[in-house]
Amino acid sequence: RTSPAPAPASTPTHCPYCALQCGMSLRTVPGGEAAGGDVVEVVERTDFPVNRGALCGKGRTAPAVLSSRVRLTEPLVRRPATGRLEPATWEEALARIAEGLARTREVYGRDAVGVFGGGGLTNEKAYALGKFARVVLSTSQIDYNGRFCMSSAAAAHQRAFGLDRGLPFPLEDIPRTGCVILVGSNLAETMPPALRYLTELKENGGRLIVVDPRRTRTAEQADLHLAPRPGTDLALALGLLHLVVAQGRTDDAFIQERTAGWDEARAAAMAHWPEHVERVTGVPVPRLRDAVRMFCDAGTGMVLTARGPEQQSKGTDTVGAWINLCLATGKAGRPLSGYGCLTGQGNGQGGREHGQKADQLPGYRKLTDPAAREHVAGVWGVDPDSLPGPGRSAYELLDALGADIKSLLLMGSNPVVSAPHASHIEERLRSLDFLAVADVVLSETAALADVVLPVTQWAEETGTTTNLEGRVLLRRRAVDPPPGVRTDLEVLHALAALLGHEKGFPVDPEEVFDELRRASAGGPADYSGISYRRIAEGDGVFWPCPEAPEGSADGSEGSAHTAEPHPGTPRLFLDRFATEDGRARFVPVAHRPAAEETDAEYPVLLTTGRVVAQYQSGAQTRRVDELNAAAPGPFVELHPRLAQRLGVAEGDRLTVVSRRGRAVAPARITDAIRSDTVFMPFHWPGEGRANTLTNPALDPTSRMPEFKVCAVRVEREAD
Ligand code: SF4
Repeated sequence: RTSPAPAPASTPTHCPYCALQCGMSLRTVPGGEAAGGDVVEVVERTDFPVNRGALCGKGRTAPAVLSSRVRLTEPLVRRPATGRLEPATWEEALARIAEGLARTREVYGRDAVGVFGGGGLTNEKAYALGKFARVVLSTSQIDYNGRFCMSSAAAAHQRAFGLDRGLPFPLEDIPRTGCVILVGSNLAETMPPALRYLTELKENGGRLIVVDPRRTRTAEQADLHLAPRPGTDLALALGLLHLVVAQGRTDDAFIQERTAGWDEARAAAMAHWPEHVERVTGVPVPRLRDAVRMFCDAGTGMVLTARGPEQQSKGTDTVGAWINLCLATGKAGRPLSGYGCLTGQGNGQGGREHGQKADQLPGYRKLTDPAAREHVAGVWGVDPDSLPGPGRSAYELLDALGADIKSLLLMGSNPVVSAPHASHIEERLRSLDFLAVADVVLSETAALADVVLPVTQWAEETGTTTNLEGRVLLRRRAVDPPPGVRTDLEVLHALAALLGHEKGFPVDPEEVFDELRRASAGGPADYSGISYRRIAEGDGVFWPCPEAPEGSADGSEGSAHTAEPHPGTPRLFLDRFATEDGRARFVPVAHRPAAEETDAEYPVLLTTGRVVAQYQSGAQTRRVDELNAAAPGPFVELHPRLAQRLGVAEGDRLTVVSRRGRAVAPARITDAIRSDTVFMPFHWPGEGRANTLTNPALDPTSRMPEFKVCAVRVEREAD
């Protein structure tokens, strides 16, 4: 239920789902007998600048998942006698987990215990989970599902700019730039309130170029839509850069003053002739020229990427090619210009900054950096040498289950639906000696566990998230959780105590945040100057935000006056990039084909994505009636020419077969997709599970799997 006017009793907070982290308020009203008791209402929150009160259907209906009718309210333990998950006490469930993890460590060694987190966990939980893995379990085997989300963009960001923050500028800058190239993002479906930034861009006279193999609802807004063959975005970016150079449209002064490595990058781009790029991508040369003209004629410009170019086995280089285009045209490190990644998951950004990633410590510090280890070990009160080194990436970790990794603790993720080659990952999960899952609902992954812990969710607990702009936000507890559930922080506290660590895992989120601030101090993602109070007083705080030094209001040391707090950093790189010498790095990159090309047996390309009414693996949104009515199941989108060739009519049941398995779903025929490509959304388990088909080929740098392109054949099921 949505009410148009704010009520005094409402609590301001944020949506549980995507990286926009829309502001909303919640209030509880009596619902009467028919509603089964009190009802939690979403109230518009027009004061929050990111969404100004707008919400998509997922945010509007989010309270439905708070209902005890759809969520877990008691721990479950698999009973040997029945082989089934059955209710248990918290004491028994926690003891079983502690025993399971301890036994594995004793028999097989500490790296035989794995931990898998999620990009939906708050900063406090991500931090505590990373600490738990490294201090209590002493395992290196921890990673999270954010690896499947934006890791290629993060790696390319680091390589070029020395720092990764999804957007190095606030969203409010987008309508004021001259031209946006939006690559592989369908904002109209993934985060609809953000579409207004593009609408306002056009109202202000700016140009919009959308790169997507499908003419999505977002692409329909574009001045120019380029529809490359899936897996060829890298060639497209190189072709554009080639034309920029050939037409003399580079910004030589910017290249000279602010960058390094241009000669090699230029040579790599010049090897990609536009005619060759047209053959590879299917985008005609005149359209490439149009794009170059629009982008270069605009005084300012941005390139924004999302999962399309990133979820490829060459995702880091692909994003790197788009960054090179920005640098060569002087559209980075300047007001209203730059490259940015539209992170997907609710806390995809913060989730990768605080230590649940295989190679990182809190503050976005590198696990291999001795100074970083010493600093974080000091905050944790442990010997730096006791901290394990980097572990496997998400897919590699899941692929090792049952082999090197015998037990797994999983929080806030559903890889049975969301991992590539999901049928294989499901088998690996089944082969574990011991699996423990903490979740809100009995997801498809939780259903395989030996122990399932029911935990609190967004509106029932306080914690911070960091949205796609790098804006740190406070989600407030607005309603009481049902009896029988506990917070993830309470779970980690209890497990740590059972495993011999009585101290170090507080259950109060603000206390955890204060420790996180200290652990991040001086690191790339410095939160030390951020507090719950400061976030609550404004519209969030952008990191980096170091704690003000002791001294005067003007920052000079030695004064008796209190220093002004650091204001946070909405815009990065305006004076210098975060590299040692302050210059951005061009990286020479070359096109290479997708890991799996089409052939006679698998002649069509499959690409996957989301629909507006479902979110990620659908574990929450598939439990909301209104969303299910809008998006009840998977489908296969295909072009009329392909449909005709296959003898397929609208609604026919199709079997899509890849080298890894098959999925079945009805046909949806549209000319909004290339005729060599089919599209499937990935939110559902069972026979329509798109990720049964996807290819786990990994990017060599980011270890991102190639979700966005694989070869398939499409068959119409016999009547
Ligand atoms: Fe929630 Fe994202 Fe929808 Fe906003 S756009 S309401 S954050 S799911």
